[in-house]
Amino acid sequence: MKIGFIGLGNMGGPMAANLAKAGHEVIGFDLAAPCPAGVTASDSAAKAAEGADVVITMLPNGAILRAVAAEVIPAMQQGAVLCDCSTVDVAAARDVAAEAVATGLGALDAPVSGGVGGATAGTLTFMVGGSQDAFAKVLPLFEIMGQKAVHCGDAGAGQAAKICNNMILGVTMAVTCEAFALADKLGLDRQKMFDVVSTSSGYSWSMNVYCPAPGIGPQSPADNDYKPGFAAELMLKDLRLSQQAAEGADAETPMGQLATELYTRFVEEEDGKGRDFSALLPRFSAKSRGA
Ligand code: NAD
Repeated sequence: MKIGFIGLGNMGGPMAANLAKAGHEVIGFDLAAPCPAGVTASDSAAKAAEGADVVITMLPNGAILRAVAAEVIPAMQQGAVLCDCSTVDVAAARDVAAEAVATGLGALDAPVSGGVGGATAGTLTFMVGGSQDAFAKVLPLFEIMGQKAVHCGDAGAGQAAKICNNMILGVTMAVTCEAFALADKLGLDRQKMFDVVSTSSGYSWSMNVYCPAPGIGPQSPADNDYKPGFAAELMLKDLRLSQQAAEGADAETPMGQLATELYTRFVEEEDGKGRDFSALLPRFSAKSRGA
């Protein structure tokens, strides 16, 4: 396939490189990041999109996606698919898809989980919203860039799945960290806490796979001085998107709201920026109740 790839940053760069390595013709564009090996550099987003079967975008936010989509949609050939893999607000995903479909294109929102490690290894999970036809066309590319692609429903369903998942993740990581800090103060050994919880009803991905306590459970960013991993500010971005979506849909999400407030303080007022999102554990350990 001929693929236009716009946004070649930490995630987009290795994703585009994997498509090129698999034998696809990839034309890339980024305002700042260099083109990875095997990808042909273009000097505009519109030029990268011309004549492509699929145009993939991997951009920082919904406002930038809207601007890039306004540029590439008129340049794309009929029947081609615009596939946005960024994490953006549900409203931006739906609006961009509607514009693309109105001009005879296919459109997918296909945010990912798996981080830079997954992008590099080609083991991302894609959560996809859009038509069955567009999904079927892009599926072979998802299979190169990732290990799993779930078709979640119509436009916006991929972003909805992503922010619901990450709202659960933010809340479970926060409560796992506060439970470890409480256990410390109760004199409970951290290893014993892990042995019990990881095999009891409090178990979760945050505890079992990504344990926030150093030296406990499998290797995680806690064992590397809380270097990300998944940075606290990226978790905050996703939590904010969840609250924006909840407002738009009139959904009550008190736990998501609390986690958003906690990560806002952690990133903006404390030392959370640039640290892994599981670094809430040393934060709780250093605090006392009400302080
Ligand atoms: P990044 O900042 O490294 O990359 C974004 C790239 O977009 C940058 O290289 C930037 O120059 C480029 N860009 C910005 N405006 C542009 C424009 N108008 N035209 C062309 N290029 C433009 O970010 P990233 O970590 O690669 O994340 C990309 C997306 O993936 C985000 O939406 C993020 O939330 C999501 N995501 C990231 C991770 C992660 O672990 N990094 C995990 C899952 C999802």
